[in-house]
Amino acid sequence: MSKLFKRTKILATIGPATNSAEKIEEVIMAGVNGCRLNCSHGSNEERAQQIKWIREAAEKKGRSVAILQDLQGPKIRLGMLKDNHLDVKRGDELVLESKEDFEHNGGMTVPVQYNLAEKVKVGEPISLFDGKIKATITGIESDTAIRIEILNDGFIMSKKGINLPDTDFGGDIITPKDMADIERGAEEDYDYVSLSFVQSADDILKLKQILLSLGSTAKVIAKIETKKAIESDERLEEIVKASDGIMVARGDMAVEAGAEVVPIIQRKLIAMCRAHAKLCIVATQMLSSMVDNPEPTRAEVSDVATAVVQGADVVMLSDETANGKYPVETVKEMKKVILYTQNHSRIAPISRAPEGESAVYDAISSAAARLAEKIEADVIMCQTASGATAFAMAAQRPNLPIVSVTSNPRVANQLALLYANSAFVRPYSEEFGYKLAKEQKESGYLRVEEGRKDLLAVIVSGDKNKYGTDTIRVRQI
Ligand code: ATP
Ligand code: MG
Ligand code: MG
Repeated sequence: MSKLFKRTKILATIGPATNSAEKIEEVIMAGVNGCRLNCSHGSNEERAQQIKWIREAAEKKGRSVAILQDLQGPKIRLGMLKDNHLDVKRGDELVLESKEDFEHNGGMTVPVQYNLAEKVKVGEPISLFDGKIKATITGIESDTAIRIEILNDGFIMSKKGINLPDTDFGGDIITPKDMADIERGAEEDYDYVSLSFVQSADDILKLKQILLSLGSTAKVIAKIETKKAIESDERLEEIVKASDGIMVARGDMAVEAGAEVVPIIQRKLIAMCRAHAKLCIVATQMLSSMVDNPEPTRAEVSDVATAVVQGADVVMLSDETANGKYPVETVKEMKKVILYTQNHSRIAPISRAPEGESAVYDAISSAAARLAEKIEADVIMCQTASGATAFAMAAQRPNLPIVSVTSNPRVANQLALLYANSAFVRPYSEEFGYKLAKEQKESGYLRVEEGRKDLLAVIVSGDKNKYGTDTIRVRQI
């Protein structure tokens, strides 16, 4: 078995700390498989430039890298504060004002990006700065402003998140800003689009419809972070099934639903995603002390290792690579933890409950995975058109590399985030899996198990019949 392949993938948020061609190339070389561009920050022009840099770096290094557009959703944020900062104390009263062109003068009336006066009720809880400051709503000041009372000492900063866990926003979560970002994004080279604050499967179906109407080929990720989404297992599973993948967005989930629920939801979501062959990303604060320090805490290392053992496809970095002092070191550290953990643990097999067409994918992929492990194959080669075969293969979490080959560059980029997958684009032929394995043996990309001369490959494929994937072959190359 090759020990060189990192099976759990790394998704890194791009921001000021990584905003250059050189930095992007550096983090990719350090182990990043996908880049997240957050529409909450920066400009369209910046993102277009970043996409160009990512594609150039990936091309230069001959690897597939996924690009994810993260839509803000109904996330409410503070506006720009004078000097970017305001100290607050317990007992202070703050007015949150949402007038256009309102400029903060350093006082206790601060700008907010959303008109809360129409939605909130007196007595409801509110928190500022991603949960760091707790407060209570004490009054509706005007048509555009509310008054709150601060419950703990601290400070707030420009554009940081506001949470209203008990406020009813009444459905419709795709905002006008999201619509503009989706339209702009459909013209850019995105592989995935994620939607924040998803509450139901309908939110995802609606986004899929919009993307389809715009001709986008991006896959859709639901960010799980609201109280509503995790209200029942049925609701959660409906969201998983409607999406191509989910993100366990632990930051806002902890603020909205309580930090203690997060580990259990994480474990549940990883299992659900595997059962339905969907992508699962674990996000937020994975190595967050590395924003300021060159070394992680023991608890953070344990957090990354836990996500790996549980079988997440992807572990994500936020501030660490967007804003931190040590973006490249953080990626290297994460990769080190992933490699050690995968080589010293096994991911438990799944019990899937696939229906209809997916039952065939499941049967083929589980047979291929067991076979490959039994004969100690060096690689599973996966011939895929839409990516479905590769998603089914990854859901098995085999302990050897999966090399996927497709003629569609968009699919190859999407597969870059999948467990154990590395994806390559080649012109379609019936034998393109075999040919690629041969090529990669010769180049040394695929290594033969010690003591053997031939590369042992399990090749999973199909032709265009009703089952899509129908063939498993064993080849010595
Ligand atoms: P979310 O709730 O969607 O995770 P966030 O505000 O926490 O949103 P992240 O994308 O997780 O944002 O990034 C962490 C921090 O990095 C942000 O709060 C912001 O300060 C900074 N950041 C990220 N992207 C950018 C950018 N393009 N330009 C400037 N700052 C950025
Ligand atoms: Mg969030
Ligand atoms: Mg965040």
